Amino acid sequence: MNTVYSIRELNEITDPLRQDAQATIGFVPTLGALHEGHCALIQKAAQECTFVVVSVFVNPTQFNDPSDYQNYPRNPELDAEKATAAGAHIVWMPTVEDMYPSQDTTITVGGLASLWEGAHRPGHFDGVATIVAKLFNIVRPDTAYFGLKDLQQCAVISQMKRDLHFPLELKFINTIREPDGLALSSRNQRLSSQERAVAPALYRELRRCATLFLSEPLNVDAELQKSIAALTGDGFSVEYFALVDTQTFQMKEAANQGDSIIVAARLGVVRLIDNVQIGSFSVDE
Ligand code: AMP
Repeated sequence: MNTVYSIRELNEITDPLRQDAQATIGFVPTLGALHEGHCALIQKAAQECTFVVVSVFVNPTQFNDPSDYQNYPRNPELDAEKATAAGAHIVWMPTVEDMYPSQDTTITVGGLASLWEGAHRPGHFDGVATIVAKLFNIVRPDTAYFGLKDLQQCAVISQMKRDLHFPLELKFINTIREPDGLALSSRNQRLSSQERAVAPALYRELRRCATLFLSEPLNVDAELQKSIAALTGDGFSVEYFALVDTQTFQMKEAANQGDSIIVAARLGVVRLIDNVQIGSFSVDE
């Protein structure tokens, strides 16, 4: 197993790869507490690149809620094992001191980053954009892999890549789910057994709306409100449940193929997010 901690150790391994015309570096940034969703990204990177770097870093600046940061699950030894088994050549666990020589420089992505997650988690996307830019500059990957589970994050990072001319390719991977539909998330570990039992309702409501919106013209807002009421009845505190344009994240009143339905809701102390793209599954699937 090849775990490194400092930027210097990482460079000692990755610098020679940059002299090798055959080598390609795939990069999967994570917060750790790895699950099958993370592993799907690592496996994809291992299929497509000759060398895979996985970073595990609970980035303090993207947590707007201090207790979420404190309680975020951490399991570095198991993470290193899982990442290696999925195909990582190196697992990099940076220190806060290395990543933040100061906190004086922040990247703010405008436009869509102020909506939804940006509105409900002030400063979150500044933290994400800033750490991802630092990680890109240090790892200098050919390709970086992100999960569509965090759909708006994918859009924010795409925008940053375009605007700051990062010389790399981005690839986005479909959401990996439990058999009952719940999107895998490190935060699921913090659900009580009762909360875990109702959590799949999020995906149930997303699919219900996605299926309806595809098949017939109807009052989109009324259906979204029905879903919010159903989830509230199940014990969720819904922050948003909305139909949006997948590129701009602007709210939409009528649905088209390729639009997304996005949700964020709290179940007890745990905040869950999920989304589906309209037309991404067949009605009888
Ligand atoms: P995180 O550790 O939560 O920051 O996630 C690291 C990467 O894994 C991000 O690109 C996430 O979008 C992705 N990811 C998290 N959960 C899933 C999932 N259930 N399926 C696919 N990708 C995921």
